[in-house]
Amino acid sequence: MSETHHTKVLIIGSGPAGYTAGVYAARAMLSPILVQGMEPGGQLTTTTEVENYPGFTEVQGPELMVKMQEHAEAMGTKVIQDIITDLDLSKRPFTAKGDSGNVYTADAVILATGARAKWLGLPSEDKFKGFGVSACATCDGFFYREKNIVVVGGGNTAVEEALFLTNFGKKVTLIHRRDELRAEKILQNRLFKHPKVEVLWDHTIDEIVGTDMPMGVTGVRAKHVKTGEITEVPADGVFIAIGHAPASELVKDVLELHNGGYVKVEPGTTRTSIPGVFAAGDLTDHVYRQAVTSAGMGCMAALDAEKFIAETEDEAAMAEPETA
Ligand code: FAD
Ligand code: NAP
Repeated sequence: MSETHHTKVLIIGSGPAGYTAGVYAARAMLSPILVQGMEPGGQLTTTTEVENYPGFTEVQGPELMVKMQEHAEAMGTKVIQDIITDLDLSKRPFTAKGDSGNVYTADAVILATGARAKWLGLPSEDKFKGFGVSACATCDGFFYREKNIVVVGGGNTAVEEALFLTNFGKKVTLIHRRDELRAEKILQNRLFKHPKVEVLWDHTIDEIVGTDMPMGVTGVRAKHVKTGEITEVPADGVFIAIGHAPASELVKDVLELHNGGYVKVEPGTTRTSIPGVFAAGDLTDHVYRQAVTSAGMGCMAALDAEKFIAETEDEAAMAEPETA
């Protein structure tokens, strides 16, 4: 049977932004509820070493996220496994419906739904998803022991995934559409030095090729961006690492968005275009997109929500008729 939960602050998302909002909102005695979504712990659960989260010279992404969840819960955040499928922000209390059938009502909402992997959009990519095509090296790398692997992209994710995949593959070919990477120099140096890695510059993927019976990838057709020349690269696994898009579907028709789908907030705050609705982390940030900046914005969102709730409670108290 479905249940209705009321909370002062509903936090949607369980990445660094969501859990940090949980820590702060709980310590402000707001008894927050946090709904985890389909990826408990968020994007960092899809990686291995994290070397730039202050306080940890090196920590595994999934371990860091377990620690953040434990921290939020220890402070008093109620963490719930559910996915919000519908959000009504037209009146307060705000109402969110969960995939479980449960309903959450809240005086304030913190959106921390982060970002999701982007795909190339090729029919052949779609066809072989789960059969040789993946967007998560930590999840699927193990299947390609002593095999040929292709990674597509030129940012931090692509380079980290390529390096991680050298632990399994015979050879890793990174295919990038330009002649320079945007990844951090330290990662580039590691990549260029690695004996198992080859970089194919100035190429895009024209098609992922494979067999139907059994269903599987055998290679990619890569096209030179200037000459149009095709290079066939043999591969058993193809990892697409071309960035992430904000997960703003829940609010795309009701909140102001910008820069291709990121939730717009008032500069220097986490306030969205609807009072009482706050946004934090990769959902609202098209520039920095780091765990630590997301955590920072989660903190800001909880402080903004606390202020909003205090002000609305004061207004409600003043509006109440005085008793004789
Ligand atoms: P996310 O981590 O994206 O989490 C979003 C959360 O929202 C998820 O829990 C999801 O389940 C939830 N959600 C989504 N929709 C719903 C819904 N409808 N209902 C309920 N919940 C929902 N950054 C670094 O600083 N250092 C690194 O080393 C680093 N490595 C990375 C490696 C990889 C492979 C990737 C992909 C990213 C890496 N990043 C790194 C970036 C970092 O992971 C992100 O900046 C950070 O996770 C963003 O945090 P977030 O809380 O905004 O959202
Ligand atoms: P990103 O920085 O946006 O890079 C995406 C890469 O994919 C770019 O090189 C881009 O090419 C390429 N690309 C985009 N669309 C493409 C397409 N259709 N076809 C071919 N190539 C395409 O994304 P990211 O690497 O996932 O990183 C996202 C954020 O997470 C960044 O802020 C990053 O710093 C952070 N992150 C940090 C770490 C770390 O700190 N160690 C690790 C991973 C991620 P162009 O270069 O030509 O645009």
